[in-house]
Amino acid sequence: MIEEIRKNIYRCEVPLPKSPLKWINNYVVVGDQRTLVVDTAFNNPDCFDAFMANMETLKVDLSKTDVVITHLHADHSGLIAELYARGATIYGPELDIEVFTRHMGSDAYYDRFLHFMTMFGMSNPTIAFFEKHPARRYTTSPEFEFTPVKEGDIFDLGEYQFQVISVPGHTPSMINLYDEKHKVYLSADHVLDTITPNISYWGPEYPVILETYFKSLMKIITIPVEVMLPAHRNVIEDHPRRIIELLDHHRFRLMEVEEILQQADREMTVLEVTQKMKWRIRAKSWEEFPDPQKAFATGEAMVHLEYLAAKDRIDLRIDDNGVYYFSRRDNRVSQDYPVVIRA
Ligand SMILES: [Zn+2]
Repeated sequence: MIEEIRKNIYRCEVPLPKSPLKWINNYVVVGDQRTLVVDTAFNNPDCFDAFMANMETLKVDLSKTDVVITHLHADHSGLIAELYARGATIYGPELDIEVFTRHMGSDAYYDRFLHFMTMFGMSNPTIAFFEKHPARRYTTSPEFEFTPVKEGDIFDLGEYQFQVISVPGHTPSMINLYDEKHKVYLSADHVLDTITPNISYWGPEYPVILETYFKSLMKIITIPVEVMLPAHRNVIEDHPRRIIELLDHHRFRLMEVEEILQQADREMTVLEVTQKMKWRIRAKSWEEFPDPQKAFATGEAMVHLEYLAAKDRIDLRIDDNGVYYFSRRDNRVSQDYPVVIRA
């Protein structure tokens, strides 16, 4: 499916098999000299064929194409090496692409995440836990070169000038692209409609990343936007409204987590809190959650717990094995975070 959003700006769908995300939106901007392609898809044959079919329909010459990856996730970066091999020039945020994407295929990459699962209270996790994870199954081969981009860099397409905007949160260094003149904003997985971007734990190097995400939302809420183009699901017409909904979602999540600790009235691991939270997934019990969903859910619970601990709302104790235990501090559930600006 290809839709022309504005003259020479196209939204191209690529189905993501077996993923609850259903499909990814790639954006193609046809310029005077070069073409800009934003994000790719999983590194698997079906995604590759669908992606290339869209490129053929739009007569994209990969040797005159700049491919920008907004963040590390395999549904965005999976085809980098394939496109690099066909002559495309690859761009992306350095931390996400070099530190994470290039190493996602190796076993050593998972030591960090196995450590997190232990920290969350899972007993003796092994690499088998990540076997079905999209990062492991559908990542790119490391055979590519890329040029790092940062806040303020411009992709000059002639009529369109897309500026890089740094919006860490969903990943440690995700970027968006914005054309000020036409008020077109490519929001990647920073702002999505109907689904909420997963905010997960990336380690102590990226402390209180939920707060980082809130700041990145507030950074763009007042930017003039006529059309916001996300990487999944529908085009967003009213982005301030959607940002307020996302902030509200996390406010309710923070309250939910705090209430779980209040009711338990004892120390709980991240895993125990996760199991008590409500999840929109077709599974009768926690045991039925697919492993990748368990990883996403515990990561999401962790960032809410980490935020509450950072705000001195709850207590954290770390035992000798590195397992995190959270507990309530008093009998009050806060109603006042994050700060939400109502239009
Ligand atoms: Zn993502």
